[in-house]
Amino acid sequence: MPAPRTPGFVNGGVSFWYREPGLPEPGPRLDGDVRADVVIVGAGYTGLWTAYHLKRADPALRVVVLESEFAGFGASGRNGGWLSGELPGSPERYARTHGREAAVAFQRAMFATVDEVLATLDAEGIDADAVKGGQLGVARNPAQAARLARFVEESRAWGWGESDLRLLDPAEREGRLRVAGAVAAAWTPHCARVQPAKLARGLAGAVRRLGVEVYERTPVTAIRPSRGRTAAAALTPYGTAWGDAVLRTTEGFTARLPGLRREWLPMNSSMIVTEPLPAEVWDEIGWAGRELLGDAAHYYMYAQRTADDRIAFGGRGRPYLYGSRVDDRGRTAAWTVDALWSLLTGMFPAVAAYRADHAWSGVLGVPRDWCATVGLDRATGLGWAGGYTGNGVSTTNLAARTLRDLVLGRDTELTALPWTGRRVRRWEPEPLRWLGVHSMYTLYRRADAQEAAGSGRTSPLARLADLITGH
Ligand SMILES: Cc1cc2nc3c(=O)[nH]c(=O)nc-3n(C[C@H](O)[C@H](O)[C@H](O)COP(=O)(O)OP(=O)(O)OC[C@H]3O[C@@H](n4cnc5c(N)ncnc54)[C@H](O)[C@@H]3O)c2cc1C
Repeated sequence: MPAPRTPGFVNGGVSFWYREPGLPEPGPRLDGDVRADVVIVGAGYTGLWTAYHLKRADPALRVVVLESEFAGFGASGRNGGWLSGELPGSPERYARTHGREAAVAFQRAMFATVDEVLATLDAEGIDADAVKGGQLGVARNPAQAARLARFVEESRAWGWGESDLRLLDPAEREGRLRVAGAVAAAWTPHCARVQPAKLARGLAGAVRRLGVEVYERTPVTAIRPSRGRTAAAALTPYGTAWGDAVLRTTEGFTARLPGLRREWLPMNSSMIVTEPLPAEVWDEIGWAGRELLGDAAHYYMYAQRTADDRIAFGGRGRPYLYGSRVDDRGRTAAWTVDALWSLLTGMFPAVAAYRADHAWSGVLGVPRDWCATVGLDRATGLGWAGGYTGNGVSTTNLAARTLRDLVLGRDTELTALPWTGRRVRRWEPEPLRWLGVHSMYTLYRRADAQEAAGSGRTSPLARLADLITGH
């Protein structure tokens, strides 16, 4: 069904989240060479949180951030606003290399990170429309319900209790949020809603106040390791930034840097937002608790109720562009807008009388084993963090505190977490990469259709899809 669009409908323009605050005026470019203690490439949440925590730990450090557009231009200014305690990868995989205790410690650190971020926003006076209403996962057919139930059961085996994740009975489910066709739901308190661009802008302001130099419209064209007495360096058309450490925090854009095309797959995700919805719609839907909403489909959706009473809804789109290309201003294909609209109105029929007001897309980074990583190689001075596989809003903060400890040479609980120093093989060359990702999503779509038709069990096609890409 074609989505009805408001007369002011915007496609792209970075994202809806910049409409109210407005796109920022980019700050100064780098102007000549600089020698810093730490150089950070990319001013998304990872880069900004890292600069923030380094300066807080040691105000004497000279920290330089280089950003090709403006702070918050990437996924950090475009995401679904789930500040989530979910692990950015598979606990089994982290446990395989570091043991179960380490994977549990990582999960515990992720839960704590949600509150850590909220407390810092408070302390810095950053208003990002944050509400900690938890996250609700709904199942809309028996196969999805069985998966949700299994997920909750498995979480018990990892030691997580009712207070971390639980299935809701129908009365509580309906009391929170009425999704058409829902047959089961699970809820976790470890998640908060945020307005992504307000978070990015607020953080950029906080790091500038701390004395970090943020150079915008300054693309890094290459990163060089330190050699002998020569420091590590980030090269730009306007000068070179030298540092004892050069940290790469470019997530979904990493493939553009020389030698890193196959490091992390740039995965697209697309969103739409409705016009503001009146009280009678909310009377029908509920959603007073501002929970983040997701489903248990393979080709999943994610949504939030915004501070100005719209629904921001993300998911299906064109997942991957051949050759790891990145479409960076967020324009979204009409069919994607329509597909998201029909899924949204299928879940909330009362919304069908209203219109879509904005659509956009962004790119996130996926490592070959779908597990996030952070690290610093002391020998070269080069560090990195990312590959959050769509779960970076909170994880970036944990990554930043870990990078701080690594740069300062501290052995801490954070540096002992099992994602530190994790290296995995690269993605396959094209056309295998494109074929793999596209067959995975085609199979997921078919699996979702089979499950919707009522088989009651997870479709074997989904397992095949996971096998193909190692998801
Ligand atoms: C549509 C969408 C929805 C999402 N929803 C959620 C969600 O609800 N919850 C969640 O946890 N995660 C979500 N994610 C993922 C999350 O947004 C990201 O994991 C997170 O923002 C990554 O932050 P980052 O700072 O590492 O990368 P980014 O925010 O992408 O920042 C990287 C920055 O580096 C800059 N850059 C790139 N190359 C260069 C270069 N060569 N030189 C200089 N600068 C460069 C870019 O311009 C950009 O500003 C979503 C992602 C998308 C796209």
